[in-house]
Parts: sequence; structure tokens; C-alpha cells
Amino acid sequence: MTSFDVIIVGGGASGLMCAMTAGQRGRRVLILEGSNKIGKKILMSGGGRCNFTNRLVEPANFLSANPHFCISALGRYTPWDFIALVEKHGIAYHERRHGQLFCNDSAKDILAMLVAECAQVGVRILTQCTVRAIQAPVGGDAMSGKAASDDPARARFRLDTDQGEFSAASLVVATGGLSIPKMGASGFGYDIARQFGHTVLPPRAGLVPFTFSDGFKAISERLSGLAVETALSVPEACFRENILFTHRGLSGPAALQLSNYWPLGAPIRIDLFPGESAQDWLKLRKKAQPRSLLRTLLGERLTRGLVLELQSMFWSAWAETAIADIPDAALVQLADDLQAWTVKPSGTEGYRTAEVTLGGVDTRELSSRTLESKRQPSLYFIGEVVDVTGWLGGFNFQWAWSSGHAAGQFV
Ligand SMILES: Cc1cc2nc3c(=O)[nH]c(=O)nc-3n(C[C@H](O)[C@H](O)[C@H](O)COP(=O)(O)OP(=O)(O)OC[C@H]3O[C@@H](n4cnc5c(N)ncnc54)[C@H](O)[C@@H]3O)c2cc1C
Repeated sequence: MTSFDVIIVGGGASGLMCAMTAGQRGRRVLILEGSNKIGKKILMSGGGRCNFTNRLVEPANFLSANPHFCISALGRYTPWDFIALVEKHGIAYHERRHGQLFCNDSAKDILAMLVAECAQVGVRILTQCTVRAIQAPVGGDAMSGKAASDDPARARFRLDTDQGEFSAASLVVATGGLSIPKMGASGFGYDIARQFGHTVLPPRAGLVPFTFSDGFKAISERLSGLAVETALSVPEACFRENILFTHRGLSGPAALQLSNYWPLGAPIRIDLFPGESAQDWLKLRKKAQPRSLLRTLLGERLTRGLVLELQSMFWSAWAETAIADIPDAALVQLADDLQAWTVKPSGTEGYRTAEVTLGGVDTRELSSRTLESKRQPSLYFIGEVVDVTGWLGGFNFQWAWSSGHAAGQFV
């Protein structure tokens, strides 16, 4: 049995941050990573450039059954703290829309930075390690939440793995969510949570493209590859961003963002005149270019392929009629159609392509300051395994850094 102060299960974004923070406090830390490599999602993130944080982080950018939970950790390790670390390592970065920060060169720089910080404080990392069983601290009762033992030296978690037995005073679960199973994602963190009496709120794929099985599927196939600026909405949320038509349905930032808020089976609304009035625009065009066809006028704003699809759905009866000869009532209806094009996804692409997993370990059973379990002393849950999910745009990594740092200060 090899002993450590802290064992972290999962060598992803939050696990590495927690390890370096605890190591800097002189803790002896072991990371147990199930797959053959640590930080795989960091490497594939942001199209290989890692959108590592967002300058405009607000609690409102996160979804959780307990929306205030994230405030404490986010406030104590902010985007500026992570930016300072990135700058200390001389990593060049740039800002894109909506405060998103990306590496200039490669996501590899972020992983190399975290690995270097961990190495500097002697963090040990085992990859391809299967944790077979976890035993609560000797004398402890996982379900009652009572102190594990009168003698703190004996109060240790014991982990049986295929690479030996390990013990530690603190155990951190940083196994992430279920997204992208081929990258090593597993539900093991949820199993550990349940073992110690935690509630796991139902996990669901998030930041994921929509799929369709009705007539819209053929439209999206025909328009596949086309990006259009829209406001995409369900009653609970609206995102003004691009949508991208794909062979399976709708992707692009607006669709990914909206998927986090989409109630299964609900229709979604596409506004092709975001922030504008289509009715006013049509009125103006009617005055300015009375002899033009609608498809010619709309062709000034939208690509021809999309205009032809819209024409066959919304104004086929007026296809060859000059706008001056189309009754105002028909134009009002058309304006409505263009601003509230309602489509009904049959589902999403699921965990295969989802960037995150919604739901997870119920935050009401964790300390928001330390991420420690309220059911089992010295057990911590950080990162995506917790029921805190960020928007697209660097928010999920910021949660990984902030929650990892919060726990790393207390383990
Ligand atoms: C394609 C893609 C692109 C993304 N791009 C961005 C982006 O640009 N910006 C952003 O903010 N977020 C992005 N995300 C989301 C972000 O990657 C995650 O939110 C973040 O990595 C979560 O950190 P984590 O430490 O909780 O989990 P992870 O980083 O997923 O780490 C979990 C680790 O635990 C390991 N593990 C799982 N099961 C076990 C087990 N049984 N035993 C041991 N180890 C185990 C996994 O192999 C993994 O290494 C992206 C996600 C994907 C899939």
C-alpha cells in the first residue's frame, strides 16, 4: 500500500489544476487516470486551440439546479488568475467574440503548462489505471457522514487498482462527464458519488448539435455547410449567434448553446432577422424596389439556397409576384415566418459529439467553498462531474480551473 496525502481520480482539466494547487501547499498528490493520456479534452478543445477561459465570466453563464453554487469558487479563482498563469508560461493567446480567449498556437501549450506546474511540485501521475474499489476511511461510515476515525492518521481512503493499492487522507473525484466516450469519459464519478450516498441529478448531453427526422432533415442536408446569423430560442433562452446546417440537422454556436436549455421534444425558433424587424424591412423594400421579387430582395441578405428553401415553405404562392403586388397582410405573415421559423428537433447527437454533460453530483450536498462532500468528510467532487455546466465559450474550463483550485486549497 503506497500512501499519499491526496488521490485525484481523473487527470483532466480540473484534476490537474487541483493537483498543482495541492502540490504547491506541500501535499503529496497522486493522479489516477483511466485512459492512456492525461488532458485529452484539453488537447481537442477549441478546435485544437483551447478556448481556455472567458473574460466575461458571470454566474449566469452556468446551469445548475443550484445556480448560486458556482459563485464562491469562480470568485476565488477568476479568469484573470488563469490568464496570469498562461502569461507566466509565455503562452500567446488572443480574444475572439464574446470575450473568448484562445491559444495562438496550440492547446498543447495549456496541457504542457499544467503538466509542468504539477511536475514542479512532485505530483505523481499514473495513466491506464483502473480503480477497482474505493474503501471509505477506516472506521468511517459513508452513509452517516460521521467523522471517519478518532485518529486522523488512520482516516484514509483505500483504493484498490490494477496498478496496486493506494491510500490517502483526501480523495478528489475529477472524472468529468459522459461526453465523448472514446476519449475516456466514464460514469465512474457518478458511481463513486452514489457509493457515498450522494444524489446524482440525471446526466444529459449538452453543447450538442440537434438532429431531425422530419422534413427539416432534408432541408438541412441540402443546406449542409451553410452558416447563418440568427437568434435561436426556446421560451427559457435565446442565443444570437450563427447556426450551421449539417447533414444531420443544426449545429453552430447558437444551436450548441441552446441545446443546454432544450426540453426534449420542444420546438425551437429560428429568427433570421435577429435584432431587427422583418416587417419594417419588407415595408421599406416594398417602397424602394416595388418591382422586385421577394427572393431577389431576400437574396441580398441570405444565401440563394436558403432563400429558395424559405420560398417553397413560406411564399410559394407569391414566388413570381413583384413585392408591390403582394398584399400587406401576406407580408406581415411572411415577416412572422422569417422571425419565428419553428422547427422541431427529434433529438441531439448525444454524448458522441457533446462538449459537456449537464446534471451530475447534486451541489446541495457539497460545500461551495471547498467542494467537499457533506456526506463523507475528505471526499471532494470537482469539474464537470458536478452539476455545474457552462455555456460555450471557455466557461466550462473556467469552472474546471475554479473548482479544482477551490478543492486544491483544502485537500
Ligand atoms: C470536443 C470538445 C471541445 C471542448 N472545447 C472546450 C473549450 O474550448 N472551452 C471550454 O471551456 N470547454 C471545452 N470543452 C469542455 C471541457 O473540455 C470540459 O468541460 C472539461 O475538460 C471538464 O474538465 P474535467 O476535469 O471535469 O473533466 P475532463 O477534462 O473530461 O477530465 C476527466 C478525466 O477523467 C478521466 N476518467 C474518466 N473516467 C475515469 C476513471 N474511471 N478512472 C480514472 N480516470 C477517469 C478521463 O479520461 C479524463 O482524463 C470541450 C469538450 C469537448 C468534448
